[in-house]
Amino acid sequence: MQLDHIKILGFDADDTLWNNETFFREAEVDFFQLLNEYAPRAQVEKKLFEIEMQNLEQYGYGIKSFVLSMTETALFITDQKLPGRITHEILEIGKAMLAKPVKLLHEVEETLGRLTETHELVVATKGDLLDQQRKLRKSGLAKYFHHIEIMPDKQITDYQNMLARLKIPAQNFFMTGNSIKSDILPVLEMGGYAMHVPYHTTWAHEDVKDDIQSPNFYRGQTLADLLKIIEG
Ligand SMILES: [Mg+2]
Repeated sequence: MQLDHIKILGFDADDTLWNNETFFREAEVDFFQLLNEYAPRAQVEKKLFEIEMQNLEQYGYGIKSFVLSMTETALFITDQKLPGRITHEILEIGKAMLAKPVKLLHEVEETLGRLTETHELVVATKGDLLDQQRKLRKSGLAKYFHHIEIMPDKQITDYQNMLARLKIPAQNFFMTGNSIKSDILPVLEMGGYAMHVPYHTTWAHEDVKDDIQSPNFYRGQTLADLLKIIEG
């Protein structure tokens, strides 16, 4: 088998194992609606993205950061006259997101169940620690994983740190995820292997041009396509 040397299979979580980005898109629509009387949607959308990008380094990823960025955007849009009612609604949007059920994507459980018989499986996700732990618990998938890594970001150094802890060279690591920028490019650059499984919607921050030419790169339609690649 061509990929016999792969020892550890890494999996992104949000939009690879379960739905996530759709909740952000829906929350944004509610947020734009709240500020409807102050500014048109396109203007709020542009400002929100700008503020999210400015805040990434200090706040990191996840719902709580998103709530802070929505609040900051609302303050800007209302010229610092944000009514308490809207602040309350923004907090409610965040709490509702944190309470969402975890819905697994197509064939995820079956695929992990099979792969765990032959390989060590690892979750490599970025986001808010508490929230990612909540989703993992609700997903019922924790039992398939040998290691769970919640990273501040998914740059090459973040992966290098994880692989050092797992005591494995990049050549023996295969990552699967929905983000070309975060799940695929850094791993390929380190000399590892990767499969991209697209999700129907991608956050603008994760959206990059995809013209990858690498013998270590695979494309799948669902997570189950990994079985054909790994099992040959
Ligand atoms: Mg993802």
